[in-house]
Amino acid sequence: MAELLRCEKCTCTELDHIVSEKLVQVTKQQVYGVDKYYPANTMAKLAVDLVGTKQITDSMIYCLKSYGYTVQVVAQSETL
Ligand SMILES: [Zn+2]
Repeated sequence: MAELLRCEKCTCTELDHIVSEKLVQVTKQQVYGVDKYYPANTMAKLAVDLVGTKQITDSMIYCLKSYGYTVQVVAQSETL
């Protein structure tokens, strides 16, 4: 299940802080030629946890944007 969620400003666990940042960062991966988005920050993880999925779907992006969230694609972090 959900790991502990932390805000990225002061690393507290206040949901108000996490939500007030209004920034959803995702990484984009191509799977069989289809763009898929996965959570890259706390707010994005919170969004997928609420829905119960692993990826950020187009409808979630649309919904988040309509609520004033910025959805940003960030470079995928590499693990070697
Ligand atoms: Zn905080």
